[in-house]
Amino acid sequence: MIPVKNEDEIEKIKKSAHLLSRAFRSVESVLEAFVTTRYLDEVAEETIRSGGGIPAFKGYMGFPGSICASIDSTVVHGIPGSRRLQNGEIIAIDIGVLFQGYYSDAAKTYAIGDVSKEKKVLMEVTRTALHRGIKKAREGNHLSDISHAVQTHVESNSFSVIREFVGHGIGQALHEEPQIPNFGNPHCGPKLKAGMVLAIEPMVSMGNCAVVFDEDGWTVKTMDGSPSAHFEHTVLITSGKPDILTIEIEDRS
Ligand code: MG
Repeated sequence: MIPVKNEDEIEKIKKSAHLLSRAFRSVESVLEAFVTTRYLDEVAEETIRSGGGIPAFKGYMGFPGSICASIDSTVVHGIPGSRRLQNGEIIAIDIGVLFQGYYSDAAKTYAIGDVSKEKKVLMEVTRTALHRGIKKAREGNHLSDISHAVQTHVESNSFSVIREFVGHGIGQALHEEPQIPNFGNPHCGPKLKAGMVLAIEPMVSMGNCAVVFDEDGWTVKTMDGSPSAHFEHTVLITSGKPDILTIEIEDRS
């Protein structure tokens, strides 16, 4: 069963998402070449804890960081550490927050300094794929309409969708039903209802979709070494337009 949240629960997830957005803003304020990913992790954790929240990833199945910091060919679950960012790299930052019993989850990929045109295109295609998926997150649609919209956009740009990792429901747990693959035929799976909250998160490789785990047991990389990008929002299904609860992490312009 996919949980349907009541107004009180939705309000709490919104507060969690607001604190999550603040964590992104604080990371962005120090994000530049030569900074270590451990420092980004510390900045995020400090913002989350001082706002009364708990970093949702820290200790989750033993994950050591408050954020996932995934550079270039790392797809997801990069462990923060002594690695310094370099000009020309892209880094996906994924953060989860637990606030007053409710989770929120979002990810965004950033360019460090001057990055290649190809990497810029990869980031833009992934970001747009997320929004194509979100557009399908409407009451009455089927779950796989989201998956199909993401896949179609990615593949029409000659990139590939990572298949081993999926989006998920979110609320009282970090990962609730349903799983949301980033590929699939449309009009399949459960029908979406107002009150469902979904973390939609395309992970996209510039090359082949095959991935490998690092020896640390967490870090997931593209097998062919291609750069990859990751964007994620926590989204509320309503009777009308989808409500992107983590919209504050988008660029303000
Ligand atoms: Mg997630």
